Amino acid sequence: MENLRILFIGPAGAGKGTQAAKLAEEFKLEHISTGDLIRNEIKSESALGREVKAIVERGELVSDDIVNEIVKDKLQTTNRFLLDGYPRTLEQAKFLAEVSPLDYIFALNVRKEILVERLSGRRMCSKTQDPNCKGMFHILFTPPKIEGQCDLCGSELYQRKDDNPEIIEKRLNSYETETGLPLTEFYNKYKSGKFIELDAELSPDEVYKNITQSLAQAVV
Ligand code: AMP
Repeated sequence: MENLRILFIGPAGAGKGTQAAKLAEEFKLEHISTGDLIRNEIKSESALGREVKAIVERGELVSDDIVNEIVKDKLQTTNRFLLDGYPRTLEQAKFLAEVSPLDYIFALNVRKEILVERLSGRRMCSKTQDPNCKGMFHILFTPPKIEGQCDLCGSELYQRKDDNPEIIEKRLNSYETETGLPLTEFYNKYKSGKFIELDAELSPDEVYKNITQSLAQAVV
């Protein structure tokens, strides 16, 4: 199948995970979420997981070297992928440019007050029934049919430790300076892929439609 290498840039709560899961399924892309990969390391209590647990729970960024290494292995085995949550710094973006070109870079834009609202009600699937489940809910906007239980696989839902108000504030404040501004500048000048800004305050279906329209040229 033809190359299709996509990157989503956007703050926590912009909908990267939701859009990525849907797009990956439709276009047969490998969904590479560094947040998920890191949480798996923490859950399995690997050496790496133990090293980064406290950093992640404080809402801070894991070092560029560690994340670059995790992603490099993944990228070397696929030419159809969707990156979600990586790169998050200019250094990571430069590293990625050396490892693999990109075809599309989507920036998902949402105002901060909406992000806070979305993140504080977010509930995730604990994946105890299905390790690949992508279930994600919001206690007000998209509640599960049965409280506390994933609609897709029946696992228990949980709230991420870094989705509490104090940590949310910290994550969003550092986002603009560490990620948003440097990456927007970097990818605006980037020659090998298309940089597309999206209004991600629209409904998930509308955002998805705008993404797939931009991909109209891509081979499914
Ligand atoms: P996420 O699920 O993308 O919000 O990521 C959760 C947490 O994992 C972040 O708050 C960071 O602590 C860590 N993390 C994920 N991706 C990266 C990255 N590209 N660079 C540094 N830290 C990351």
